[in-house]
Amino acid sequence: MAQRTIQANSYFDGTEYHDKGPYCVLIEDGLIKDILSGDLPPDLELDDDLDRRAAFIMPGLVEAHCHLFLDGGELDFKNRSAYLKASEDEMLAVARRNVEASLTTGITFIRDAGDKWGINHRIRQEMAAADKLVPEIRSPGLGIRKPKRYGGFMAREVETRDEIVAAIKDLLKTGDELKILLTGIIDFESGTVKGEPQFDVDEAKLIVETAHDLGRRTFAHCSGLKGLEVAAAAGVDSVEHGFFMTRDILEILAEKQIAWVPTFSPVHFQWARPEIAGWSEESIFNLKGILDSHSEHIKMADEMGVPVVVGSDAGSHGVVHGVAVIDEIKFLVEAGMSMAKALNAATSLPRSLWGSTSADIKPGDHVDIIGLSESPFENTAMSWQPSWVMMGSECITL
Ligand SMILES: [Zn+2]
Repeated sequence: MAQRTIQANSYFDGTEYHDKGPYCVLIEDGLIKDILSGDLPPDLELDDDLDRRAAFIMPGLVEAHCHLFLDGGELDFKNRSAYLKASEDEMLAVARRNVEASLTTGITFIRDAGDKWGINHRIRQEMAAADKLVPEIRSPGLGIRKPKRYGGFMAREVETRDEIVAAIKDLLKTGDELKILLTGIIDFESGTVKGEPQFDVDEAKLIVETAHDLGRRTFAHCSGLKGLEVAAAAGVDSVEHGFFMTRDILEILAEKQIAWVPTFSPVHFQWARPEIAGWSEESIFNLKGILDSHSEHIKMADEMGVPVVVGSDAGSHGVVHGVAVIDEIKFLVEAGMSMAKALNAATSLPRSLWGSTSADIKPGDHVDIIGLSESPFENTAMSWQPSWVMMGSECITL
């Protein structure tokens, strides 16, 4: 029987903050046996090799939207497009580095959001087979899109209803979830999403039904009112990005409990570093307006009970794996969410929405805990550099 102990001054259990410490988490065979508050029992000895201390502990972070095969830190447009012709082994090496960077930031669960080379499936398999502590990976493989529409680097083309059904059945043989490319991307020059949604409501309903019949969830790349109307009507399980959100759409998301992964980071980067893409004054103005409206609607979504989930779209231009998740937590807090809700959106909530093993800090739960030298509830500007990660009976010092 493997026993371990964690001592902390305060902790976030996945939903609530506990600050009446010190606390002592007793672990047996990778499960939390008990949480004691107050001083350690006198007969309990701490083993420096096995046991851990931290000022603050919380469940490992979840990244709900990223592209593992892409390096978000590569800012040069020429290099970024040349990379799309790199060998699969080169891409796999990039994915490995991105997983490593994620773990260093305290991320223990990653949902990839699509790549056409299947690097996401390969890294999922590699991590599942690893004999060391690594994050768990959830992968859709490829997504689906309409011919010649947005999403070439991550989706398979489908045209007719028969093709849609056949592609979903095929993709979900190996995909944990179905990624739908429902709209294009934002045009920052005009400050809009151009073009009609890729799928109409009937097609989107067929997609969701087909995936659900196979026991899988759907997540839809979607921005702009027309696309959001389709996503909400069809009842996708999660709206990704969701720029140009409205109160009416949020009402449907709340009623149907459709998750929203707002991915502030890629748009925020364009606004913060406009010289890299050479955005005009007008585009910079548009970017700021889009971000401000996004924040307002996050606050609304939170008040209305929409399940908001943290995902960064890491791999996108300027969005670096790992740290971007911390940025997203901060964006939610700046928008008006409480720290507890923002951390819930990056831990317990996505795990429960996806039907994954619960990793809350509660007796009986699986151990998936990170230790920090400060509490974000005390200092929101803290560095967020975890000192160790413990998963099951394994622990690594960072
Ligand atoms: Zn994405």
